[in-house]
Amino acid sequence: MVLRVGPSWGVYPAPGVVFGGPPKNRVGGTPTRTREPRMLPESSHTRHYRLIRLHPPENAFKMYDSKNSMADYDLIVVGGGPAGYVGAIRAGQLGKKVACVEMDRAGGTCLNWGCIPTKSLLKNAEVYQMMAHHAGDFGLTVEGLKFDWEKVIGRSRKVADKLAGGIEMLFKKNKIDYIRGEASVVKPGVVEVTDKDGKKSELTGAKMLIATGVVSREMPGFPFNGKSVIGSKQAMVLSAQPKDIVIIGAGAIGIEFAYFFNAFGTKVTVVEMLPNILPVEDTEVSVALEKSLTKQGIRLLTGTKVDKAETTNKGVRLTVSGKTQETIEAEIALVAIGVSPLMPQGLKLETDPKGWIKTDDNYETSVKGIYGAGDIIGPPWLAHVASYEAIQAVEGMFAGKKPKKVSVFPGCTYCQPQVASVGLTERAAKEKGLKFKVGKFPFLASGKALAVGESEGFVKLLFGEKHGEVIGAHIIGADATEMIAELGLAITLEATHEELISTIHAHPTLSEAIHEAAEQSQGHAIHI
Ligand SMILES: Cc1cc2nc3c(=O)[nH]c(=O)nc-3n(C[C@H](O)[C@H](O)[C@H](O)COP(=O)(O)OP(=O)(O)OC[C@H]3O[C@@H](n4cnc5c(N)ncnc54)[C@H](O)[C@@H]3O)c2cc1C
Repeated sequence: MVLRVGPSWGVYPAPGVVFGGPPKNRVGGTPTRTREPRMLPESSHTRHYRLIRLHPPENAFKMYDSKNSMADYDLIVVGGGPAGYVGAIRAGQLGKKVACVEMDRAGGTCLNWGCIPTKSLLKNAEVYQMMAHHAGDFGLTVEGLKFDWEKVIGRSRKVADKLAGGIEMLFKKNKIDYIRGEASVVKPGVVEVTDKDGKKSELTGAKMLIATGVVSREMPGFPFNGKSVIGSKQAMVLSAQPKDIVIIGAGAIGIEFAYFFNAFGTKVTVVEMLPNILPVEDTEVSVALEKSLTKQGIRLLTGTKVDKAETTNKGVRLTVSGKTQETIEAEIALVAIGVSPLMPQGLKLETDPKGWIKTDDNYETSVKGIYGAGDIIGPPWLAHVASYEAIQAVEGMFAGKKPKKVSVFPGCTYCQPQVASVGLTERAAKEKGLKFKVGKFPFLASGKALAVGESEGFVKLLFGEKHGEVIGAHIIGADATEMIAELGLAITLEATHEELISTIHAHPTLSEAIHEAAEQSQGHAIHI
């Protein structure tokens, strides 16, 4: 008999496994504990339905749903991003007949115009920075270091193309009909697709998943013009490196581009209305990053708002006030102030006051049979959250599972030093009136960090005072975005400082700093 600890990515739980047990009564613990699965004997009844769910006979869904007995598909997914393509594949794995309609390219914003191409650009920036400014630290001399802007951008586009092509292969493998064109929802169960030549066709589906995502938000009175006023999409394919750029908004996207352009020598100014950059992060982390980026040469105007923005012959002119009152001129303004919903045409679905599609606990919209997942249903706008929501929605539709809503999720910013967090910030924990202990460990005291020349930053952990469970984790430093996974799991499993301490972390690794931060919360870190 195989014992599994929880439903894993792409694997249906073993028969008879019942997840959950009494959750620990802890202040910060939100998730239902998934350890200690109870194994129940599988009855022939359960086995019958499990097998039908996994291997439905031809047209099985149609047999179950008489109202939609003539539908072409069990599920039509509108949008092929991390919500749409992942949801479509999951439904395909569950034996459903699925179509995914995409008007641009499979992979959505994430693979084509977001997560992946930016990370590729950021890696170029990191390598260049390292060679330009730190080669000497390693006893290396680099002479005549140059870069080819076109090739920097080209590498990012190649990586994006390769991955988008990979999704198309996955569609084939999972027998999903990938339909290129713009979908409009005519009525429940009916989608009209207009292809690039304007040719229209109609698809019918028993259920629909809307996963159309978002677009960059424009600043009122300062619209994108594709030249001097741009959004993130244009910023990653500029044909020439700008001499200077002003970035409005210091969230993850604004900061990643600030790091990228500055690394290659563009003069960067960031204007942020709120008191700190990365305002959703723990303040201590934001302040540490501000110091680091300022040292790297980026001008950060926090607590500063744009009063007037206009285009000029040479580029843009902004009048700002707050911590400083001045006029900033630059070749380009990158507006990174947030996103707006990209609603499909046709049937109106109920939205919240900010325009995000409203969904219930099953991810079903105001219209029966139409579901929503990903960025279009509102924050947090993250690829991993979008995929999680889509899987939950689809398993709720076709696998008889109760969908879970998003509670614990990591957030990452991939500048250098990197920032990653999961759970509550110290600010949020205080606002909730929680009693907690903090454990902190600087990378300056980590052997591995010193060995690899990455001693900037720290790990900061928050533990509930009563039970000692991790309620928040914050890392600033090299590889922070890789290290955060351990702490996401810790929160999901309601792990305590004791459990982190009793987990042997390999030496020498950067993740030893997590172990030490847990020890420090109890007053007995070894290396500080
Ligand atoms: C610059 C940038 C960097 C980012 N970096 C990260 C990161 O590092 N990590 C992270 O987690 N998130 C990141 N994100 C956010 C991430 O890209 C999104 O959260 C994620 O793509 C959301 O997935 P989605 O499927 O909901 O929407 P999308 O990925 O936007 O996919 C929606 C798809 O639907 C299609 N579509 C829309 N309307 C229709 C229609 N009517 N018919 C047919 N197709 C339609 C669109 O063409 C699009 O391909 C970044 C975003 C940007 C802009």
